[in-house]
Amino acid sequence: MTMQIISPAKVYPVIVIGSGASGGMAAWNLTRQGIEVVLLDAGEKFDRATYWTHVTPWEARERRGRGERAPQFFLDTRESPYATPTGRPFELTRVWGHGGKTNVWGRVSLRLSDVNLKEPARDGWEIPWPIAYADIAPYYDRVDQLIGVCGGDDDSDILPGSRFHLPPPAPRCAERLIQKGAKTLDIPFVPTRRANRTRSVRGSIPCHYCGNCGAGCDVAAFFCSADHLLPEALATKKLEIRSNAVVSRIITDASGLATAVQYFDRRTGAERQVRGKVVVVGASCVDSTRILLNSTSRTHPNGLGNGSDVIGRYLCEQIRFHANGYLPALAGGPTRNDRGIGGEHLYMPRFNHRPGHTRDYLRGFGAQMWNTGASSGGAHGGSEKIPGFGIGLKQEIKRRHPAWFEIHPYGEVLPYADNRITVDAAKLDRFGVPTIRIDYRVRENERKMTEHMADTVEEIVKAAGGVFVNYNRGDLDGNGTAIHEHGTCRMGDDPKRSALTAFNRMHEVRNVYVVDGSAFPTATEKNPTLTILALAWRATDHLAAELKKGTL
Ligand SMILES: Cc1cc2nc3c(=O)[nH]c(=O)nc-3n(C[C@H](O)[C@H](O)[C@H](O)COP(=O)(O)OP(=O)(O)OC[C@H]3O[C@@H](n4cnc5c(N)ncnc54)[C@H](O)[C@@H]3O)c2cc1C
Ligand code: SF4
Repeated sequence: MTMQIISPAKVYPVIVIGSGASGGMAAWNLTRQGIEVVLLDAGEKFDRATYWTHVTPWEARERRGRGERAPQFFLDTRESPYATPTGRPFELTRVWGHGGKTNVWGRVSLRLSDVNLKEPARDGWEIPWPIAYADIAPYYDRVDQLIGVCGGDDDSDILPGSRFHLPPPAPRCAERLIQKGAKTLDIPFVPTRRANRTRSVRGSIPCHYCGNCGAGCDVAAFFCSADHLLPEALATKKLEIRSNAVVSRIITDASGLATAVQYFDRRTGAERQVRGKVVVVGASCVDSTRILLNSTSRTHPNGLGNGSDVIGRYLCEQIRFHANGYLPALAGGPTRNDRGIGGEHLYMPRFNHRPGHTRDYLRGFGAQMWNTGASSGGAHGGSEKIPGFGIGLKQEIKRRHPAWFEIHPYGEVLPYADNRITVDAAKLDRFGVPTIRIDYRVRENERKMTEHMADTVEEIVKAAGGVFVNYNRGDLDGNGTAIHEHGTCRMGDDPKRSALTAFNRMHEVRNVYVVDGSAFPTATEKNPTLTILALAWRATDHLAAELKKGTL
């Protein structure tokens, strides 16, 4: 399937960097419109036949004992190192391979609303988004139909609904109890929205509710760019994929326009170039930022299209913590099959902007529930905290098994100019390319929000009659663990304060588009991939129109 035709003389209409959500969407949308694309990806295709989706924990132990290994999706940092200041770690998760992180993503697929998009203009923190919900809504509709998102018929100011949701899975008993408790506090929980195909989409196999999505789906029943975008793009015969092509920089001419992309063969280290009329960057926020910052030239001394000095700055994602425990009302009941789709079946949308709720910080938070009830991940939850040993311990684990709950709130981190990615010319990778440095910390606004997040979770659990087991108020997950990096190549109307237009095109380099999460001016409280897909589709419609007009 992968071609390795190296023809330096050929000028491709479009070069796409990265094949995850953003790059995969770009390649899919351009090729179906008849535009030839060469796609450079740092990795290869993962082989679904080797996935451990249906390997039970005890089989996994035996197989590991025999020296077998589950597929290694995550990039070993030693291969592409990055630095952080002492005492301020940032846990960067990367998947280099066809489909990128969509091979293992959590699939939570939430629309942004005007509450999110217009909030910076209202509260005055940093720049506003240059788009409104009405601009992106038609693309959300198309993405929902293309990738398959299950969800309910709820529709609110914070979480706009969709006519195209697939049926959602039924809530688990423990989730219903949490929902009931929250309702007494006027906090709604709604059916989850995840890109799990609870019905067949475009001929795919529907989900069979094994609950082990985190291991990758061996029947491709959740959306993954490598399974659902790249094959359709290849079928047009307009797509050439170059695997193991680690892009280092974008090359420009004297006028500052992009003319080619330099990359290194991941296996041999050989340096290559490919020429193109337009470059679409979708290597994921951090790697894209690195490529742009390393693409210096006489016209772009501060990195490609970075006359404004915003590229690399305003890195933002979400703060998160875990509040786990059990619901005595369900303890000792029969063990049900609560596996369902991996993750929660109910979601708590943000509510703090509504009348009757007060806050002493900007922005807000929502919450997921992951392993709740007798689901695959929750079964043994908190067993290390149960006193005793032997048969008594086993009986107590079994008693609590159907009663487990987990609440995971996600809160928006504001964009700060000095939360930033830089490249370090003194620290080179094995290809001689400057490596990344990430300087990131959360501040007073996030600390205040954490207090409200904790109050909320504690009130909900109390109202539901739950008992905390693994929960320490104030303990936040490490920075980076939300895996939703944004802001470092943001879109905006003002070229002095943003790098991209509202259509993801660089203000300063009209033949370069950046289509991943780096384009988001704010992180919001929501998971980003549905919006990345919608914006990448919208941006490449714009690009296709420009190519057809002959303006590129
Ligand atoms: C465990 C996990 C759970 C998640 N859960 C959710 C969720 O529930 N909901 C949600 O919305 N999001 C979730 N995410 C995040 C989601 O996966 C990302 O938002 C999404 O994949 C981003 O798309 P992308 O195209 O920007 O990057 P990716 O999907 O990471 O794709 C990047 C691509 O670029 C390639 N690449 C990188 N560097 C280079 C280079 N130098 N040269 C060439 N190619 C390069 C990579 O090989 C890869 O193909 C989760 C992620 C993880 C890991
Ligand atoms: S729950 Fe569904 S989508 Fe997830 S791994 Fe199982 S079959 Fe695949």
